Amino acid sequence: MSLRLHNTLTGTKDVFEPITRGHVGMYTCGPTVWNFAHVGNLRAFLFYDLVRRHLKVSGYAVEHVMNLTDIDDRILDQAMHAGITIGEYVKPYVAAFFEDMAALRTQQAEHYPRATEHIPEMVEMISELIEHEYAYVADGDVYFRIASFPSYGALSRLDRSGLKPGARVATDKYDKESVSDFALWKKAQPGDEKLGAAWDAPFGRGRPGWHIECSAMSKRYLGETLDIHAGGVDLMFPHHENEIAQSEAANHKQFARFWLHSEHLADATGEKMSKSAGGFTTLRDLSEAGYDPVAVRFFLMAGAHYRSRLRLSDEALRAAAEQVRRLREFADRVRRSTPGPVEDGALLKRIGEVRAGYREALDDDLNLPQGVGLVFELAREANAALDAGRVGESGREALLQLIGDFDAHLDVIRVEEPGLAEEVERLIAEREAARKERDFSRSDGIRDELRQKGIALEDSKDGVRWRRVR
Ligand code: AMP
Ligand code: ZN
Repeated sequence: MSLRLHNTLTGTKDVFEPITRGHVGMYTCGPTVWNFAHVGNLRAFLFYDLVRRHLKVSGYAVEHVMNLTDIDDRILDQAMHAGITIGEYVKPYVAAFFEDMAALRTQQAEHYPRATEHIPEMVEMISELIEHEYAYVADGDVYFRIASFPSYGALSRLDRSGLKPGARVATDKYDKESVSDFALWKKAQPGDEKLGAAWDAPFGRGRPGWHIECSAMSKRYLGETLDIHAGGVDLMFPHHENEIAQSEAANHKQFARFWLHSEHLADATGEKMSKSAGGFTTLRDLSEAGYDPVAVRFFLMAGAHYRSRLRLSDEALRAAAEQVRRLREFADRVRRSTPGPVEDGALLKRIGEVRAGYREALDDDLNLPQGVGLVFELAREANAALDAGRVGESGREALLQLIGDFDAHLDVIRVEEPGLAEEVERLIAEREAARKERDFSRSDGIRDELRQKGIALEDSKDGVRWRRVR
């Protein structure tokens, strides 16, 4: 069966087909780097990783863009208090974000555009909107006129009787009670210059609102129509509604064909985890408490279907760590096994069924928890068969394939020595850069250097993979 994804736009699970055969353009709303990401944010980012990986498993080339919001009200506020520029203020949080992503083993997106590096694209789009009267200037700010966009609110099925045309809201985050014209551009305030947070524009010096950045940057990297746009469910309104209004008004094209929204992570009390609400947990907190980031990855990805709420607790994290341990032990055992004297035909058939069932679960709106359930059932049976010497050459091969299947999404099997992965990844990136420059003696040199460390590289369609040899 083909891949079906729940599309918020239609409210149904729809068969996924990209515009260009074999190629998917995907935009995902990334972090606001005003602080460390909390585990709730990480759930959203790992959801993007799941989508990305399953698209690749499905044979697509993926061009994935994840923005970094490096300017917003909170960042300005914090930078002002610290007496530094916004660029200086966000620096450690940008670094922390990439460290978290690496620790959680997310695949790298093709682009991580930063808002402050794409101001001209935003200014251009805002100018376009003003020219066609979708936007207007008021007191040096620029607002989007929602009355000019009749389908405003379609994504979140907004009750349009609540719309207040003409009323304006300057803050980036607001609720359904304050549906009204929203800010595309905010006039420079006296303090903004010192913070490095003001730019010239034909409609006046200032800084962009939050929503316009995603519209402008997605267009810059992926064009006017995205195959997939994903984000946490809290972004559906107003952020995604505003993105649609801006982009479709400016481009006269559908903005995104599939909208995917992942549910919240709740804290132990059942409340949505959020930074503004105070109690939030970061990956650093969990590492200090002794949890392996890979177990955190497993919990956030496979602890619940992405459209269900998930609750963070020590018990759930411990259970996830134990599941990772069992998967690793199983993989180790299969890898080290020598083919037994008999081949159990029934087991072979079961492995085939489980592989198909796993794939079908993922194709059915990315139901990883269901797929993982099948794997654990089979692992029990396979362990018993290994004990009894009933796993022959074909059985072993089929089990290795199944392990490859689930680890293409979970990526929990490889066990790393501290520091080694970073060093290897750094050298791989350096080698990639050398190859791009056609400096093949340098790239071959790096391959040899790695080889001496006992690391072999394999070029695959998913990029460069490495494994331990020797
Ligand atoms: P932000 O840094 O606030 O812009 O959020 C980055 C991403 O995290 C967005 O996709 C949000 O929807 C998502 N997010 C924020 N809080 C949570 C939460 N408690 N659970 C899951 N996702 C969240
Ligand atoms: Zn966005």
